Amino acid sequence: MAVDVVVVGSCMTDLISYVPRLPKPGETLHGNAFKMGFGGKGANQCVAAAKLGASVAMVGKVGDDVFGHNYMKNFEQHQVNCDNMHMSSTSSTGMASISVAEDGANSIVIVAGANLELTEDDIMKAEPIISNCKVLICQLEINQQVTLAALKLAKKHGVFTILNPAPAPSTFNTELLKYTDIVCPNETESEIITSHPITNIDDAIESLHHFFELGCLGTVIITLGAKGCVFRCKSEENHLHVGCTQVSATDTTGAGDAFVGTLAYCLTRGIPLTVEHLSILVRISCDVATVSVQKKGTQDSYPCFDELSLDIQ
Ligand code: ATP
Repeated sequence: MAVDVVVVGSCMTDLISYVPRLPKPGETLHGNAFKMGFGGKGANQCVAAAKLGASVAMVGKVGDDVFGHNYMKNFEQHQVNCDNMHMSSTSSTGMASISVAEDGANSIVIVAGANLELTEDDIMKAEPIISNCKVLICQLEINQQVTLAALKLAKKHGVFTILNPAPAPSTFNTELLKYTDIVCPNETESEIITSHPITNIDDAIESLHHFFELGCLGTVIITLGAKGCVFRCKSEENHLHVGCTQVSATDTTGAGDAFVGTLAYCLTRGIPLTVEHLSILVRISCDVATVSVQKKGTQDSYPCFDELSLDIQ
Protein backbone atom coordinates (compact mmCIF):
# COMPACT_ATOMS: atom_id res chain seq x y z
CA MET A 1 0.00 0.00 0.00
CA ALA A 2 1.46 3.41 -1.00
CA VAL A 3 1.22 6.43 1.31
CA ASP A 4 2.19 10.09 0.89
CA VAL A 5 4.39 10.41 3.95
CA VAL A 6 6.39 7.89 6.01
CA VAL A 7 7.74 8.98 9.40
CA VAL A 8 10.56 7.00 11.02
CA GLY A 9 10.82 8.12 14.61
CA SER A 10 9.67 8.30 18.18
CA CYS A 11 6.45 7.87 20.15
CA MET A 12 6.35 9.19 23.73
CA THR A 13 3.57 9.36 26.28
CA ASP A 14 3.55 12.73 28.06
CA LEU A 15 2.61 12.55 31.74
CA ILE A 16 2.03 16.17 32.73
CA SER A 17 1.60 17.31 36.37
CA TYR A 18 0.60 20.92 36.99
CA VAL A 19 2.22 22.00 40.28
CA PRO A 20 2.32 25.24 42.32
CA ARG A 21 6.14 25.23 42.05
CA LEU A 22 8.81 22.69 41.09
CA PRO A 23 9.67 20.33 44.00
CA LYS A 24 13.09 20.46 45.67
CA PRO A 25 15.19 17.25 45.65
CA GLY A 26 13.63 14.77 48.07
CA GLU A 27 10.42 16.80 48.46
CA THR A 28 6.90 15.42 47.80
CA LEU A 29 4.46 18.02 46.56
CA HIS A 30 0.71 18.03 45.89
CA GLY A 31 -0.03 18.96 42.28
CA ASN A 32 -3.15 20.81 41.05
CA ALA A 33 -3.98 18.72 37.99
CA PHE A 34 -2.73 15.89 35.77
CA LYS A 35 -2.96 15.34 32.03
CA MET A 36 -1.77 12.62 29.70
CA GLY A 37 -0.87 13.36 26.10
CA PHE A 38 0.51 11.72 22.99
CA GLY A 39 3.93 13.06 22.06
CA GLY A 40 7.30 12.16 20.61
CA LYS A 41 8.57 14.19 17.70
CA GLY A 42 8.09 11.45 15.11
CA ALA A 43 4.49 10.72 16.04
CA ASN A 44 3.69 14.45 16.34
CA GLN A 45 4.93 15.13 12.81
CA CYS A 46 3.06 12.11 11.49
CA VAL A 47 -0.23 13.22 13.08
CA ALA A 48 0.28 16.85 11.93
CA ALA A 49 0.53 15.67 8.29
CA ALA A 50 -2.39 13.23 8.73
CA LYS A 51 -4.69 15.92 10.15
CA LEU A 52 -4.06 18.04 7.04
CA GLY A 53 -5.11 15.11 4.84
CA ALA A 54 -1.92 13.32 3.85
CA SER A 55 -1.96 9.52 3.92
CA VAL A 56 0.75 8.60 6.41
CA ALA A 57 2.61 5.62 7.86
CA MET A 58 4.63 5.44 11.06
CA VAL A 59 7.72 3.29 11.56
CA GLY A 60 8.57 3.08 15.26
CA LYS A 61 8.49 1.07 18.46
CA VAL A 62 6.37 1.28 21.62
CA GLY A 63 6.33 -0.97 24.69
CA ASP A 64 3.86 -3.83 25.10
CA ASP A 65 2.22 -1.92 27.97
CA VAL A 66 -0.94 0.11 28.49
CA PHE A 67 0.74 3.25 27.07
CA GLY A 68 1.88 1.43 23.95
CA HIS A 69 -1.59 -0.01 23.32
CA ASN A 70 -3.16 3.43 23.85
CA TYR A 71 -0.71 4.92 21.40
CA MET A 72 -1.71 2.40 18.74
CA LYS A 73 -5.36 3.41 19.25
CA ASN A 74 -4.38 7.06 18.83
CA PHE A 75 -2.71 6.23 15.50
CA GLU A 76 -5.80 4.30 14.44
CA GLN A 77 -7.99 7.34 15.18
CA HIS A 78 -5.77 9.45 12.91
CA GLN A 79 -5.77 6.77 10.19
CA VAL A 80 -2.01 6.21 10.44
CA ASN A 81 -0.76 3.07 8.71
CA CYS A 82 0.87 1.03 11.53
CA ASP A 83 2.03 -2.01 9.51
CA ASN A 84 5.61 -1.15 10.53
CA MET A 85 4.96 -0.23 14.16
CA HIS A 86 6.58 -2.66 16.62
CA MET A 87 5.93 -3.56 20.27
CA SER A 88 8.81 -4.30 22.60
CA SER A 89 8.48 -6.90 25.32
CA THR A 90 11.69 -5.71 26.98
CA SER A 91 11.32 -1.89 27.19
CA SER A 92 8.50 0.45 28.20
CA THR A 93 6.84 2.90 25.83
CA GLY A 94 8.85 6.14 25.66
CA MET A 95 7.83 8.44 28.55
CA ALA A 96 8.14 12.12 29.26
CA SER A 97 7.33 12.99 32.90
CA ILE A 98 6.69 16.70 32.86
CA SER A 99 6.05 19.07 35.80
CA VAL A 100 4.72 22.51 34.91
CA ALA A 101 4.80 25.15 37.67
CA GLU A 102 2.35 28.07 37.98
CA ASP A 103 5.06 30.51 36.87
CA GLY A 104 5.54 28.47 33.67
CA ALA A 105 8.83 26.82 34.76
CA ASN A 106 9.03 23.14 33.92
CA SER A 107 11.15 20.10 34.54
CA ILE A 108 11.10 17.13 32.18
CA VAL A 109 12.49 13.62 32.49
CA ILE A 110 12.48 11.59 29.28
CA VAL A 111 12.91 7.81 29.16
CA ALA A 112 13.23 6.86 25.49
CA GLY A 113 12.49 3.18 26.27
CA ALA A 114 11.29 1.19 23.27
CA ASN A 115 12.21 4.01 20.85
CA LEU A 116 15.87 3.02 21.26
CA GLU A 117 15.06 -0.58 20.33
CA LEU A 118 14.07 0.33 16.77
CA THR A 119 16.76 -1.31 14.61
CA GLU A 120 18.21 -0.98 11.12
CA ASP A 121 16.60 -4.36 10.45
CA ASP A 122 13.17 -2.84 11.25
CA ILE A 123 13.92 -0.11 8.68
CA MET A 124 14.82 -2.70 6.03
CA LYS A 125 11.54 -4.50 6.68
CA ALA A 126 9.75 -1.20 5.96
CA GLU A 127 11.41 -0.93 2.52
CA PRO A 128 8.16 -1.61 0.58
CA ILE A 129 6.37 1.35 2.17
CA ILE A 130 9.40 3.68 2.28
CA SER A 131 10.30 3.03 -1.36
CA ASN A 132 6.77 3.93 -2.50
CA CYS A 133 6.14 7.11 -0.48
CA LYS A 134 6.55 10.70 -1.62
CA VAL A 135 8.27 12.11 1.49
CA LEU A 136 10.20 10.49 4.35
CA ILE A 137 10.58 12.43 7.62
CA CYS A 138 13.17 11.62 10.33
CA GLN A 139 14.22 13.17 13.64
CA LEU A 140 16.81 12.18 16.26
CA GLU A 141 14.80 10.69 19.14
CA ILE A 142 15.84 7.21 17.95
CA ASN A 143 19.41 5.96 17.36
CA GLN A 144 21.27 8.04 14.76
CA GLN A 145 22.43 5.01 12.79
CA VAL A 146 18.80 3.88 12.43
CA THR A 147 17.85 7.33 11.16
CA LEU A 148 20.79 7.18 8.76
CA ALA A 149 19.63 3.78 7.48
CA ALA A 150 16.13 5.19 6.84
CA LEU A 151 17.43 8.25 4.97
CA LYS A 152 19.80 6.10 2.86
CA LEU A 153 17.02 3.68 1.99
CA ALA A 154 14.71 6.52 0.95
CA LYS A 155 17.36 8.13 -1.27
CA LYS A 156 18.14 4.74 -2.86
CA HIS A 157 14.53 4.83 -4.11
CA GLY A 158 14.55 8.53 -5.04
CA VAL A 159 12.21 9.50 -2.19
CA PHE A 160 12.29 13.13 -0.96
CA THR A 161 13.70 13.36 2.60
CA ILE A 162 13.29 15.79 5.50
CA LEU A 163 15.51 15.63 8.61
CA ASN A 164 14.44 17.51 11.74
CA PRO A 165 17.71 17.07 13.72
CA ALA A 166 15.98 17.20 17.10
CA PRO A 167 17.02 16.89 19.82
CA ALA A 168 20.48 17.80 18.57
CA PRO A 169 23.05 15.31 19.89
CA SER A 170 26.46 16.51 21.09
CA THR A 171 27.97 14.32 18.36
CA PHE A 172 25.90 14.92 15.24
CA ASN A 173 26.75 12.53 12.39
CA THR A 174 27.16 14.88 9.40
CA GLU A 175 26.72 11.89 7.05
CA LEU A 176 22.98 12.31 7.70
CA LEU A 177 23.09 15.52 5.65
CA LYS A 178 24.26 13.63 2.53
CA TYR A 179 20.89 11.87 2.34
CA THR A 180 18.69 14.82 3.32
CA ASP A 181 16.83 17.12 0.93
CA ILE A 182 15.56 19.53 3.60
CA VAL A 183 17.21 19.85 7.01
CA CYS A 184 15.00 21.74 9.44
CA PRO A 185 16.45 22.51 12.92
CA ASN A 186 15.23 25.13 15.40
CA GLU A 187 17.70 27.75 16.59
CA THR A 188 18.99 25.72 19.58
CA GLU A 189 19.59 22.64 17.42
CA SER A 190 21.31 24.79 14.82
CA GLU A 191 23.62 26.23 17.52
CA ILE A 192 24.58 22.77 18.79
CA ILE A 193 25.19 21.31 15.33
CA THR A 194 27.06 24.26 13.79
CA SER A 195 28.66 25.62 17.02
CA HIS A 196 27.50 29.11 16.01
CA PRO A 197 25.18 30.97 18.42
CA ILE A 198 21.99 32.57 17.09
CA THR A 199 20.95 35.78 18.83
CA ASN A 200 19.18 37.46 15.91
CA ILE A 201 17.97 36.90 12.37
CA ASP A 202 21.34 37.83 10.85
CA ASP A 203 23.02 35.11 12.94
CA ALA A 204 20.39 32.62 11.73
CA ILE A 205 21.05 33.58 8.09
CA GLU A 206 24.78 33.07 8.70
CA SER A 207 24.03 29.62 10.19
CA LEU A 208 22.30 28.53 6.95
CA HIS A 209 25.70 28.83 5.33
CA HIS A 210 27.33 26.75 8.11
CA PHE A 211 24.98 23.85 7.33
CA PHE A 212 26.20 23.89 3.72
CA GLU A 213 29.78 23.83 5.02
CA LEU A 214 28.89 20.73 7.07
CA GLY A 215 27.80 18.98 3.88
CA CYS A 216 24.12 19.83 3.45
CA LEU A 217 23.27 19.30 -0.23
CA GLY A 218 19.72 20.62 -0.47
CA THR A 219 17.74 23.15 1.54
CA VAL A 220 18.17 24.44 5.09
CA ILE A 221 15.27 25.89 7.08
CA ILE A 222 15.93 27.19 10.62
CA THR A 223 12.78 27.85 12.67
CA LEU A 224 12.94 30.78 15.08
CA GLY A 225 9.82 30.52 17.26
CA ALA A 226 7.73 33.73 17.13
CA LYS A 227 10.27 35.20 14.70
CA GLY A 228 9.26 32.66 12.00
CA CYS A 229 12.12 31.07 10.08
CA VAL A 230 14.94 31.61 7.61
CA PHE A 231 15.78 29.32 4.70
CA ARG A 232 17.98 28.85 1.69
CA CYS A 233 18.41 26.28 -1.12
CA LYS A 234 22.05 25.38 -1.81
CA SER A 235 21.54 25.97 -5.52
CA GLU A 236 20.44 29.58 -4.92
CA GLU A 237 22.37 32.60 -3.71
CA ASN A 238 19.44 34.13 -1.86
CA HIS A 239 18.15 33.38 1.58
CA LEU A 240 14.73 34.44 2.81
CA HIS A 241 13.18 35.28 6.16
CA VAL A 242 9.48 34.50 6.67
CA GLY A 243 7.92 36.17 9.71
CA CYS A 244 4.92 34.92 11.72
CA THR A 245 1.56 36.44 12.37
CA GLN A 246 1.75 37.97 15.86
CA VAL A 247 -0.52 35.98 18.13
CA SER A 248 -0.91 35.42 21.83
CA ALA A 249 0.67 31.97 22.28
CA THR A 250 -1.00 29.59 24.76
CA ASP A 251 1.25 26.54 24.40
CA THR A 252 4.16 26.32 21.98
CA THR A 253 4.94 22.63 22.68
CA GLY A 254 5.28 20.73 19.42
CA ALA A 255 5.13 23.85 17.22
CA GLY A 256 8.25 22.73 15.38
CA ASP A 257 6.62 19.35 14.75
CA ALA A 258 3.52 21.04 13.30
CA PHE A 259 5.87 23.00 11.00
CA VAL A 260 7.70 19.86 9.77
CA GLY A 261 4.50 17.81 9.32
CA THR A 262 2.97 20.64 7.28
CA LEU A 263 6.05 20.99 5.13
CA ALA A 264 5.84 17.28 4.24
CA TYR A 265 2.11 17.56 3.54
CA CYS A 266 2.67 20.50 1.15
CA LEU A 267 5.43 18.63 -0.70
CA THR A 268 3.05 15.74 -1.34
CA ARG A 269 0.63 18.18 -2.96
CA GLY A 270 3.06 18.69 -5.82
CA ILE A 271 4.39 22.14 -4.97
CA PRO A 272 7.85 22.16 -6.62
CA LEU A 273 10.97 22.95 -4.63
CA THR A 274 12.09 26.14 -6.33
CA VAL A 275 12.92 29.20 -4.23
CA GLU A 276 9.71 31.01 -5.12
CA HIS A 277 7.60 27.94 -4.34
CA LEU A 278 9.66 27.12 -1.24
CA SER A 279 8.63 30.45 0.22
CA ILE A 280 4.97 29.40 -0.25
CA LEU A 281 5.63 26.05 1.49
CA VAL A 282 7.43 27.75 4.34
CA ARG A 283 4.74 30.41 4.70
CA ILE A 284 2.01 27.72 4.97
CA SER A 285 4.12 25.72 7.48
CA CYS A 286 4.64 28.85 9.62
CA ASP A 287 0.90 29.64 9.49
CA VAL A 288 -0.13 26.11 10.56
CA ALA A 289 2.47 26.09 13.39
CA THR A 290 1.18 29.50 14.51
CA VAL A 291 -2.38 28.11 14.65
CA SER A 292 -1.08 25.26 16.86
CA VAL A 293 0.51 27.58 19.46
CA GLN A 294 -2.85 29.19 20.14
CA LYS A 295 -4.32 25.94 21.56
CA LYS A 296 -3.26 23.84 24.56
CA GLY A 297 -1.76 20.41 23.92
CA THR A 298 0.49 19.02 21.23
CA GLN A 299 -1.25 16.73 18.69
CA ASP A 300 -4.64 18.08 19.85
CA SER A 301 -3.55 21.60 18.88
CA TYR A 302 -2.77 20.71 15.25
CA PRO A 303 -5.43 21.95 12.84
CA CYS A 304 -7.34 19.86 10.30
CA PHE A 305 -7.38 20.97 6.66
CA ASP A 306 -10.98 22.23 6.96
CA GLU A 307 -10.07 24.62 9.80
CA LEU A 308 -7.65 26.46 7.50
CA SER A 309 -8.09 28.41 4.31
CA LEU A 310 -5.24 26.90 2.34
CA ASP A 311 -5.02 27.43 -1.39
CA ILE A 312 -3.93 23.81 -2.03
CA GLN A 313 -5.74 20.47 -2.21
P1 ATP B 1 9.04 22.27 19.53
O1 ATP B 1 10.41 21.75 19.93
O2 ATP B 1 8.21 22.63 20.72
O3 ATP B 1 8.32 21.37 18.57
P2 ATP B 1 10.55 24.19 18.07
O4 ATP B 1 11.41 24.89 19.08
O5 ATP B 1 11.20 23.10 17.29
O6 ATP B 1 9.24 23.64 18.75
P3 ATP B 1 9.97 26.81 17.04
O7 ATP B 1 11.15 27.30 16.28
O8 ATP B 1 9.79 27.33 18.43
O9 ATP B 1 9.96 25.21 17.02
O10 ATP B 1 8.62 27.11 16.25
C1 ATP B 1 8.31 26.50 15.01
C2 ATP B 1 7.33 27.39 14.30
O11 ATP B 1 6.16 27.55 15.12
C3 ATP B 1 7.85 28.80 14.05
O12 ATP B 1 8.60 28.86 12.85
C4 ATP B 1 6.54 29.55 13.97
O13 ATP B 1 5.96 29.37 12.70
C5 ATP B 1 5.63 28.85 14.99
N1 ATP B 1 5.69 29.53 16.32
C6 ATP B 1 6.39 29.13 17.40
N2 ATP B 1 6.20 29.99 18.44
C7 ATP B 1 5.35 30.94 18.00
C8 ATP B 1 4.74 32.11 18.57
N3 ATP B 1 5.00 32.47 19.83
N4 ATP B 1 3.91 32.86 17.81
C9 ATP B 1 3.64 32.50 16.54
N5 ATP B 1 4.16 31.41 15.94
C10 ATP B 1 5.01 30.64 16.64
